[in-house]
Amino acid sequence: MTGSTTSPFTADDYRARMERAAAAAADAGLAGLLVAPGPDMVWLTGYAPPVTERLTLLVLAPGRTPVLVVPTLEAPDAAKAPGAPAMSLRDWTDGKDPYAATAALLAVDGRFGISDNAWAMHLLGLQRALPGTSYASLTEALPMLRGVKDAAELRLLAAAGAAADRTFEEIRKVTFGGRRESEVAADLAALLRQYGHEQVDFTIVASGPNGADPHHEAGDSVIQRGDMVVLDFGGLMDGYGSDTSRTVHVGEPTDEERRVHDLVREAQEAGFRAVRPGVACQDVDRAARAVIADAGYGEYFIHRTGHGIGVTTHEPPYMIEGERQPLVPGMCFSVEPGVYLPGRFGVRIEDIVTVTEDGGRRLNTTTREMVIVE
Ligand code: ZN
Ligand code: ZN
Ligand code: ZN
Repeated sequence: MTGSTTSPFTADDYRARMERAAAAAADAGLAGLLVAPGPDMVWLTGYAPPVTERLTLLVLAPGRTPVLVVPTLEAPDAAKAPGAPAMSLRDWTDGKDPYAATAALLAVDGRFGISDNAWAMHLLGLQRALPGTSYASLTEALPMLRGVKDAAELRLLAAAGAAADRTFEEIRKVTFGGRRESEVAADLAALLRQYGHEQVDFTIVASGPNGADPHHEAGDSVIQRGDMVVLDFGGLMDGYGSDTSRTVHVGEPTDEERRVHDLVREAQEAGFRAVRPGVACQDVDRAARAVIADAGYGEYFIHRTGHGIGVTTHEPPYMIEGERQPLVPGMCFSVEPGVYLPGRFGVRIEDIVTVTEDGGRRLNTTTREMVIVE
């Protein structure tokens, strides 16, 4: 999606976010932040420009008005962004040096945080124009910049989760056996859009042995009776993400399939129950992983337990061993343990969870019991 997004947030909301980001940068010892088109820019300004070779860059520095450096031909669109009243626009025309123009704005040597997704050619141009500057990964310097959601963001995430849940309630009624994975994936995408998503990021349909590959792309495989089928789908609705997984079975499952599914469900429950303020992210991972390891399947749980979600479907905080970041009310992330048995089948169960003062609250509420499909 390009152009200015439809946003429930006002210029004052964006001004507050930009001020908070600049202050956080100063606290992290940075002279400022350089934000490229992408999720950080969307969150800070509501502006989602086309990503091209022409430099577009938001310059944030403590105590200074935010400046958006923008190609002249994009300036009219940028001026319509919901956050535009909180920034000053500095356009540059083709043939001029955008790095020199940006350098004049920075005006100080120092260390700047720069978006992880900034193009290397732009960073190299800045380094040439300002040899006294150095750069840090914005995400590494300020991992929690977008991590704690406010009430309006939580409502949007809950609405996106509810739309994903409606998608699951419908997909469980369709025929799986005898159809290609790609056909069920197309059904998932259509349902997500029908229930309000403007963007579908992924529709994983992984049947039988394909389920052992956590990020299997739905393909030409024909779903068989007796297959476990991992479904994992999500995208953006009103600019905020959904991401849920359920594992269904075509016809009656074997005892082992049921046992592994129950195990993953218990692990998901344990991860969810570990969620409360002050607990480290890694403890959510440990709680889910311990259930699977204790049952002897530890080597088959081959990914982290969860990831944050917001204006993207994958972002900090990560529920992973070594992440000591304490949970804070308002954080939103997935709890999605899985077991993947190579050559046989996989099971993953995923809900988005938000941290409240008393513990976790699920933003996905469809049954986590195994659903039998046709
Ligand atoms: Zn089976
Ligand atoms: Zn997922
Ligand atoms: Zn996920």
